[in-house]
Amino acid sequence: MDPAGTTFVFCDSLLLVKAGGLEPAGAAALAELQKSRATLDDFTVRPQGCRAVGLSGAATDAPANCEWARLRTLLGAESPAAVTASRALGMLNWRAAHRFCGACGGPLEEHPTEVARTCAACGRVEYPTLAAAIIVRIEKDGKILLARHAQRIPDLWTCLAGYVELGESPEDCVRREVKEEAGLEVADVRYAGSQFWPFPNQLMLGFKAAWKAGDLRLQPEELAEARWFDPADLPAIPPKGAMAYRLIHGPM
Ligand SMILES: [Zn+2]
Repeated sequence: MDPAGTTFVFCDSLLLVKAGGLEPAGAAALAELQKSRATLDDFTVRPQGCRAVGLSGAATDAPANCEWARLRTLLGAESPAAVTASRALGMLNWRAAHRFCGACGGPLEEHPTEVARTCAACGRVEYPTLAAAIIVRIEKDGKILLARHAQRIPDLWTCLAGYVELGESPEDCVRREVKEEAGLEVADVRYAGSQFWPFPNQLMLGFKAAWKAGDLRLQPEELAEARWFDPADLPAIPPKGAMAYRLIHGPM
């Protein structure tokens, strides 16, 4: 797939694709949708050169021979468009949240050469931001710790996760989050891969760690339930394409 010739059409974080496949639907379908919907943003994703368009409303009706797809479906299927579509959605999210200068409130304009926006009033340059987050697989006696979150997708069991705070290394963040959310101490914290996650802008840093001390003591506002699972007997976990899936199914 040539990203330069591709138009990514998003509505409510869903991508318009050709029916029965995961290929971006493109410009003709966009024109059809624009007859009845407002265009929230329309820009070129650099350096890939593809076009990204955000539309208003809910992703309920799709033009003929098209459908709305979740990005995690493209990631899970290892679609050739998945990585560029993630970048396009991440840029769309960032642009929607950064229309005005954070210092003086003036309107932001396109930077002439960089992937950034500049303030016409004070000259400040705003670059796309990433929120660094850790996600960790914790092992104890051949079992792995999985939890159901209190707020997000409470019917799925997944790894513990949290945002990296200012002044903190990702490894320190793993130790702090596990202590805060589950009451455990961990050792042997090892980096295990990463993934950009455009909901809205997380850089997910995957880790593995070993239980060191403590009994499960959950932070109720974060976790509804946590248990140690045998890798051969897992509950409902996040689908293929998510960092948690890779961590849970990776080797010990
Ligand atoms: Zn300004």
